[in-house]
Amino acid sequence: MKVAIIGAGLQGLCTAYYLAKAGVEVTVLERNSGPALEASFGNGGYLQAECPEPWNQPGILGALPKWWWSSLGRNRKNAAKLLRTTELLRLLPWGIRFLRASNAETFFRHVALNRELAQYTLECMAALRRETSIDYAHRACGSLFVFRHQKALEGYAALLDRLGDNGAGWQRVDRDAILQSEPCLRPIGESLEGGIVFPNDESGDSYRFSQTLAELASRSGVQFEYGQQVSGIAANNDRVSIRAGTHEVRADALILAAGAHSGRLAACIGIRLPIAPAKGYSLTIPLGDWPDRPRHVIADAGVHAGINVLGDSLRVAGTADFCGFDMRIDHGRIDYMATLVEAVLPEFAKQMDRSAIRPFAGLRPLSADGLPIIGATSAPNVYANTGHGGLGWTLAAGSAKALADQISGASLAIDLAPFSPLRFGG
Ligand SMILES: Cc1cc2nc3c(=O)[nH]c(=O)nc-3n(C[C@H](O)[C@H](O)[C@H](O)COP(=O)(O)OP(=O)(O)OC[C@H]3O[C@@H](n4cnc5c(N)ncnc54)[C@H](O)[C@@H]3O)c2cc1C
Repeated sequence: MKVAIIGAGLQGLCTAYYLAKAGVEVTVLERNSGPALEASFGNGGYLQAECPEPWNQPGILGALPKWWWSSLGRNRKNAAKLLRTTELLRLLPWGIRFLRASNAETFFRHVALNRELAQYTLECMAALRRETSIDYAHRACGSLFVFRHQKALEGYAALLDRLGDNGAGWQRVDRDAILQSEPCLRPIGESLEGGIVFPNDESGDSYRFSQTLAELASRSGVQFEYGQQVSGIAANNDRVSIRAGTHEVRADALILAAGAHSGRLAACIGIRLPIAPAKGYSLTIPLGDWPDRPRHVIADAGVHAGINVLGDSLRVAGTADFCGFDMRIDHGRIDYMATLVEAVLPEFAKQMDRSAIRPFAGLRPLSADGLPIIGATSAPNVYANTGHGGLGWTLAAGSAKALADQISGASLAIDLAPFSPLRFGG
């Protein structure tokens, strides 16, 4: 069997790796010059496996006017989330589905489904580390959510309570416990009301992981064709043909793993995959000899920032800009990201080398209902592994292993039915 995969981001690479291990002939078509140069390059590095929440939280409708208002004129400077007026109409069909999935029952069901897939991902990654000695600055460090407002803390704790038996392993901690376990937060201690620790969450550098996995996949026989922009697909019961650059690739099956662009590619064969691009930014800052490096992945709910240590650098991730497929780095947003470092780690911010900061912007592929889209589509021999939104690192290895097992006819460790593209008619 020969399978073609569009996209060498986390989803495409992991799927290629597991398929090749199962004896399938795989070709990966990627428009960039190497693996993982888009969303999978500079993400927050957070494997949020205990409580992987979709963005369709109950009550999100009330927040949307604020996101839109923040996008206007000067307001834009200090906004965690932006919803451009020009995008409102384009996002409408996706947005209706997004809002429909934000009722409490659906939301909690989807957190539990994501959690099962995330836990499976951690198992798959542990197996990869054992079998291949892959090095991606992995840390089994746990995560710490800190809150600056009592109401926000109570709301989040109530959400975790509601998850009940399907929910996360977590502990509520007070200010003293936070400052004891995270000395780097002492300068902002007075502003913290409390926090939640998820001891089983993990961290790792997804770009390093992707580069090594691409090498391992290559050694297992995967063909990588870089610099190949896919512009057309045709599928029938026998074969799939893909127009990539100037040539045509034929395969028995195709996997769409093109991140935020998967929806547009699917549309050319009449498949509906409702995925919106949600732009996010990150900064990578050398830690130098700063002694108080964060021990957990830290999420500061008050300023909407994720702080993490990847190797010798600090990675700060945040923002959700609904501004279409525009990948450019807006320097106003980078300045905003630097204010997040000042807000969470003011002592570090005073001494960091600003000239050494590496900015990044990428498009999160956000499915309309907050679950990834994995499995056979309605087009013959066409599969999807996409739509992971802000959880694409957290869910990558498990999504790919399960899809590879489905395609190669192995028994599945996880039920893929809830993630099927067919739920959208796609
Ligand atoms: C700022 C930021 C922070 C994040 N933080 C976290 C985090 O802490 N934890 C977490 O779990 N997730 C996080 N995410 C989300 C995660 O990074 C993404 O969900 C994940 O990288 C998506 O992987 P992907 O393979 O689907 O897409 P991508 O990595 O975007 O890969 C898609 C690939 O398809 C290629 N492609 C697209 N169209 C074509 C075409 N026509 N022809 C050929 N190739 C094509 C692209 O070039 C690209 O290489 C974050 C994302 C961002 C942007």
